[in-house]
Amino acid sequence: MPLKKKGLVGKSLDQAIRHGVAHKLELSTHHSVLPNPQNRLTLDANKRDMLGIPYPKVWYSIDEYTRKSARRTVEMYNDIFKAMGATEITYIPDANNPLMFAAQDHPMGGVLMGDDPNTSVCDRDCRSHEQRNLYLASSAVFVNTGTANPTLTVAALALRIADTVRDELKRA
Ligand SMILES: Cc1cc2nc3c(=O)[nH]c(=O)nc-3n(C[C@H](O)[C@H](O)[C@H](O)COP(=O)(O)OP(=O)(O)OC[C@H]3O[C@@H](n4cnc5c(N)ncnc54)[C@H](O)[C@@H]3O)c2cc1C
Repeated sequence: MPLKKKGLVGKSLDQAIRHGVAHKLELSTHHSVLPNPQNRLTLDANKRDMLGIPYPKVWYSIDEYTRKSARRTVEMYNDIFKAMGATEITYIPDANNPLMFAAQDHPMGGVLMGDDPNTSVCDRDCRSHEQRNLYLASSAVFVNTGTANPTLTVAALALRIADTVRDELKRA
């Protein structure tokens, strides 16, 4: 129970915080999601922002493979909690539902990389198939991914794009 709700103040609050910090363990699990063509980003046909750019529409569902992983994780957590003699167990984001997924803050995909302009937006150099002077340095080019962490790969792609542009300018 949150300490505030227990009505603790002053020294007893301080002691409870110190005790909690020293005895708390947080476990977190990232589940893989299988590639699914139905999970995608499209443009909203009706809604546009103030610049007239269509809103994105996100299609995303969590498959049985991922749910199975979550169920197995909860079983393993329960074994761990039992072995530790844990007394207060809270699941985030929903304390009453251990199988509720939390968002990971890592949107990726949307302008996929690929050789075929019919099924991808940019090529292996992150260069737009349609606009040859446009490079996409972004996690949006990822075709598939784990849940974390994308940004170092984005930085690596950006450095590679810089090399490509430099080489092109030298040849021009
Ligand atoms: C809470 C949170 C925590 C995160 N923690 C981590 C972490 O610990 N490690 C990690 O690796 N990653 C982390 N990430 C993910 C990381 O922030 C992203 O992967 C990364 O920012 C993606 O870079 P990007 O350049 O593809 O997109 P963005 O950083 O989103 O850049 C897109 C840019 O395009 C601009 N833009 C959009 N539309 C237009 C337009 N029409 N015209 C002009 N400009 C436009 C936006 O303003 C923005 O500046 C975290 C993300 C969040 C939200």
